Amino acid sequence: LYNPDDLRMPLAREKTHRVQVGSVALGGGAPVVVQSMLNASAQSAEENLAQIDTLVQAGCEVIRMAIPRRSCLDVFEEVCSRSPVPIVADVHFDAGIAIEAAKRGASKLRINPGNIGSWEKTDRVLDAAGQAGIPIRIGVNAGSLDKQLAARSDLSLSQKLAQSAYDYVLHCKHYGFTDLVVSAKAHDVCDTVETYRILSRIMPDIPLHIGITEAGTSFQGLIKSAAGLGILLQEGIGDTMRISLTDKPEKEVRACWTLLSALGIRKRGSEIISCPTCGRCQVDLIALASEVEAYLQTVHKTLRVAVMGCVVNGPGEASDADLGVACGKGQGVLFRKGKVIKKVREDEVVEALKEEIDRL
Ligand code: SF4
Repeated sequence: LYNPDDLRMPLAREKTHRVQVGSVALGGGAPVVVQSMLNASAQSAEENLAQIDTLVQAGCEVIRMAIPRRSCLDVFEEVCSRSPVPIVADVHFDAGIAIEAAKRGASKLRINPGNIGSWEKTDRVLDAAGQAGIPIRIGVNAGSLDKQLAARSDLSLSQKLAQSAYDYVLHCKHYGFTDLVVSAKAHDVCDTVETYRILSRIMPDIPLHIGITEAGTSFQGLIKSAAGLGILLQEGIGDTMRISLTDKPEKEVRACWTLLSALGIRKRGSEIISCPTCGRCQVDLIALASEVEAYLQTVHKTLRVAVMGCVVNGPGEASDADLGVACGKGQGVLFRKGKVIKKVREDEVVEALKEEIDRL
């Protein structure tokens, strides 16, 4: 009835050129890189390094740090020298800070040429990045679009964002700097998706950093990001990603990995399969599933664990997973790799699953 090959989307990320962010390859078909950003005080190396430790444990591969003032450059330099993962310098308004950051250990710069002062100042930043051998991300945001471009009524917001990024990239290329990554974000999911679709077509060679900017607090931010980035990733667009949340950065990292795993793009950590519960459920499944999920986050294993409320779908899902429990009235039947291993009381389910998780 249909040709399965017709269902395959073109993979834009395989066409981008590859840039090197420290030890991490980005673009050119490399695995989608998970990023987040530090929010500890820019004046404390120890606080930032502690946060880096947490982020790396969560699976963060590239970490961005804001340098709001020149007085923060010493801390930035120390963080770069002690961090186990590449650090990106996030600089606005002051080309001098970006130039210094390139000299002091940044693995990449993130600037918006629109607020760095002038084309001449942008060029000095390009020179510094070129001398340091590091790439630059040109980051355009809907909230800080060039005024002339923003005023144009003949273009949609997506077209304006893409045009702005395109103009900056063209300038850099004419200047002879091509070690570029681009982002162009809006807080609106549809605008952002459209912007990246345009970018992937008008400059297919440039690696794209994707994200929904100012996506909001945890609940809304996760849904907006999953919707927008899910579409883009599924279309093969996006070489590196950040899920921006008004929350702890490690949650952003976990969200990135959960999304990548859900789409089958990259795997990290375990997956929990649990039912939504209904009137047939006779145990406190929400509590059980939450406890199992919390425990899975503490063990570094790639397991599928099913926590199911009754016999309707329970045995099927539980036997399909690496581990599972199908609950009945005040009890649960445990499955390991498709086989029933024992029956336990409701108050023993979590401990029994933990034991099995440790054993696998
Ligand atoms: Fe309801 Fe059972 Fe399905 Fe859970 S598995 S939603 S309890 S029917």
